[in-house]
Amino acid sequence: MIDVHCHLDEHVFRQDLDKVIERARRVGVKAIITSTINPKNIEYSLYIVNKYKNYVYLSVGLDPLILDDNIFSEVYEWIKGNANLIVGIGEVGLDYYYIRDHSERAKQRNMFIEWIELARELNKPLIVHSRSAGKYAIQIIMEQEYYNVIMHAYDGSVGYAMEAAKRGVFFSIPPSVVFSQQKQKLVKRLPLESLLLESDAPVLAPFRNQRNEPANIIYTVRKIAELKNTTIDKVIEVTTANTLRIFKDIDIQH
Ligand SMILES: [Zn+2]
Repeated sequence: MIDVHCHLDEHVFRQDLDKVIERARRVGVKAIITSTINPKNIEYSLYIVNKYKNYVYLSVGLDPLILDDNIFSEVYEWIKGNANLIVGIGEVGLDYYYIRDHSERAKQRNMFIEWIELARELNKPLIVHSRSAGKYAIQIIMEQEYYNVIMHAYDGSVGYAMEAAKRGVFFSIPPSVVFSQQKQKLVKRLPLESLLLESDAPVLAPFRNQRNEPANIIYTVRKIAELKNTTIDKVIEVTTANTLRIFKDIDIQH
């Protein structure tokens, strides 16, 4: 299993990260991609990926709620200058749950397009946040014709997801699929070949009001196997192959 998206740089992991990583290894997680979305945490994230070398990998993006041009440029330039240190760009994207203002949404869309352009230029996968904006994020991706994309914790309609999946976009499924009807519907309809595993730790745990962690992607695996009427081994085999297909910089043969 590979956890394609979580946030190990968050404060809630500062005390016991060694144990969190140990539990992930024990349950069979072969690699973890931690995403930092605040430039203040980039340095600490680099410390983490060095400490757990060839196990924890880095993606860098920007919280879609941050619309400040200076912070955007800071992250953009850092990524351009340090592309060799990251396996993907993200998360970036749209958040229409928190951002209601029309001009702010327009700004979010423009920034999102710039991230897509950067991902294309650097030939990196893009990890997309699209809370309450799944349809709009997919529309932009299709307009830009960039499909080296992972829709993370997608909460939009299955119809749009199917259109994107047909073009090669992946959907990463968090442990909250255990109780989320919307995510269960998504898993049922999308082919296994379009699915990836993510924890989104520390959020989206399989049980409400609990800190999430990468080891919990086993809950995602079990639920996918149940919904797809297949075996746990098959889900692990296919989602791992999918992950290695999109993240070419990840190596689990060591
Ligand atoms: Zn996230």
